[in-house]
Amino acid sequence: LAVQSELISAIRSIPDYPKPGIVFRDITTLLGNPKTFRRTIDELVHPYAGTKVDKIAGIEARGFILGGAIAHQLSAGFVPIRKKGKLPHETVRIAYSLEYGVDEMEMHKDAIEPGEKVILVDDLIATGGTAEGATKLLQQMGADIVAACFIIDLPDLGGRKKLEALGVKVRTLIEFE
Ligand code: 5GP
Repeated sequence: LAVQSELISAIRSIPDYPKPGIVFRDITTLLGNPKTFRRTIDELVHPYAGTKVDKIAGIEARGFILGGAIAHQLSAGFVPIRKKGKLPHETVRIAYSLEYGVDEMEMHKDAIEPGEKVILVDDLIATGGTAEGATKLLQQMGADIVAACFIIDLPDLGGRKKLEALGVKVRTLIEFE
C-alpha cells in the first residue's frame, strides 16, 4: 500500500542501537516530515472518527507526541502514562517487564473515570511488556479500552497476542522484522 511504504521509508533504522544486534526504528524522521506526520495521525485516527472516545492514554515519551495529536483530532482528553516518580498528584502504579528486568509506570488515580472509553497509544509494540502494563493499569481503573494503537509492530516479538489475551483490539500501521 502507498501509505504504508511512505511511512516505512520515513522511518530511519539505526543498527546496533541501543545495543549490538538491535536495529532501532527511529521515528523522529517521520515526525519531522510534515506530510508523513500528518499521514500517520490521519491513519491512526480514521477508524474512530465519529465514535465516542473520552480519553487518549499515551505512553511516555513517544506516545505523548502521537497521543496529543490524536486526542485533538477526536476531541478527546489526553492522559499521560509515565515512568514512576514523574507525576505530581496521587497515582496508581504497576510493575511491567522489560527485555531485562522490570520497571514501574503510573498514572494519576483520578485521570480516568470507570466506564470511560480510552484509546491507548504508543509508537511501537515489540514484546508488548510496556503496553501490557499500561493496559492492566487502565483496566484496573475501570477504563473501557476501545483499542491500542501503534505505528509499528514487530510481530516476531509477540506483543499483539499479549494485548489480545487481555481482550484489547490492536491496531498497527506497519511491520518490521
Ligand atoms: P515492548 O515493551 O513492547 O517490548 O517495547 C516497546 C516500548 O519500547 C515502546 O514504548 C517503544 O517506544 C520502545 N521501543 C522498543 N524498541 C523500539 C524501537 O526500535 N524504536 C522505537 N521508536 N521504540 C522502541
